[in-house]
Amino acid sequence: MGRIWDVVVIGGGVAGGLAALDCARRGLSVLVVEKRAFPRWKVCGCCFNAQAQGVLEAVGHGDLMARCGAQPLQQLRIGLHGKTAPLSLPGGWVLSRERFDQALLEAAAAAGATVRFQTRGQLGPSCSATRSVRLTSSAGGAQEEVNARVVLVAAGLVNHCSPDHASVETIATSRVGAGCVLPATTHGYAGNVIHMALGNGGYVGLVQREDGALNLAAAFDRSCLAAAGSAAAAARSVLELAGFELPAGFMAGQWQLTPALTRRPSAVAGHRCLLIGDAAGYVEPFTGEGMAWALTAGAAAAPFVVEGLADWSPDLERRWLQTLESLVVRRQRVCRALATVLQRPLLTSGLFSLCRAWPGLPERIVRRVNRVQLPSAEIG
Ligand SMILES: Cc1cc2nc3c(=O)[nH]c(=O)nc-3n(C[C@H](O)[C@H](O)[C@H](O)COP(=O)(O)OP(=O)(O)OC[C@H]3O[C@@H](n4cnc5c(N)ncnc54)[C@H](O)[C@@H]3O)c2cc1C
Repeated sequence: MGRIWDVVVIGGGVAGGLAALDCARRGLSVLVVEKRAFPRWKVCGCCFNAQAQGVLEAVGHGDLMARCGAQPLQQLRIGLHGKTAPLSLPGGWVLSRERFDQALLEAAAAAGATVRFQTRGQLGPSCSATRSVRLTSSAGGAQEEVNARVVLVAAGLVNHCSPDHASVETIATSRVGAGCVLPATTHGYAGNVIHMALGNGGYVGLVQREDGALNLAAAFDRSCLAAAGSAAAAARSVLELAGFELPAGFMAGQWQLTPALTRRPSAVAGHRCLLIGDAAGYVEPFTGEGMAWALTAGAAAAPFVVEGLADWSPDLERRWLQTLESLVVRRQRVCRALATVLQRPLLTSGLFSLCRAWPGLPERIVRRVNRVQLPSAEIG
């Protein structure tokens, strides 16, 4: 009671976990609040690219994925109308979010951070030196207020952390996400490969996780989902159109939906508060970019936090926006363009034909999107 934390991180996913770890290892007092109990499953393709690994190495945890049993990714196999286009991947790993997110928070705790699960955080008012955060227990509803010199909002795609959360812009044509995990059986999908089925109105990605279970992650047009009646039915029609086998146990899968995917908040910083990860804006990823962007923003935050502890300024907020632009938003352009193409059947067919005829071209683009760019180089 009465303690002032250097940093309160709202959300214990990849962005929040990495930022908490980085701040704690610099000697700051860190409180992470996460609304769910861990380990937890969430809708995600579970694919990590070289940039994600590069950021982990930069904070001294380059062995984290390997220790969790991550499996290497070697190929992206795209399917449309019964044909497939295999593209080689420039590295990458598959690892369940249950294991990765938990391991990241354990590393943050080992570095000195305090982690509270089943605790929802909401930004409160600020005074010149601190910002308050209202904490509500997800279990019993008990409430308390804590104060921090800096608050990092890392609460993901949809969060109700800010009183003005209504100012998040969603794109009208944005697809919705969906996912499920099927138990390890003979599902017929080879490991070390991202299997990507393209259909009219959506796509479905399938990967074999480190525990042998099959992870499915999808994005659908809202009209396609409404016409199909359920995420399972929409996924089945995409898989059938692509000519992919229905995995064993498919109909028993427990699908979970996300809200509209592409979204952008009106501001990525406020007084004594920075937004990181999906909370700062979301674009559909394809080969492991989403978590890499979130980890990159998480790693970029600590120097701003250190600077802002004593002296917060509008200039710091402006530089945070510029840093996100240069480290994340610029890198999102290719994925944003690809998401637009995949919403148009004719363009999708054209792109697919190109992948089959000249695989070297898309492979070069994937290598470019996956190239490692570390935050420290960006912060003067
Ligand atoms: C269908 C789909 C497939 C995807 N596939 C991939 C992929 O293969 N590879 C990839 O790199 N990315 C993928 N992504 C994107 C990736 O999941 C996100 O970019 C990544 O999880 C963002 O991390 P984050 O830490 O910002 O948010 P999250 O990982 O969502 O973490 C946010 C955390 O905050 C918690 N939280 C929310 N509100 C509060 C609150 N008020 N108080 C406390 N805690 C709160 C949540 O419980 C959650 O644990 C995919 C996304 C979707 C939708």
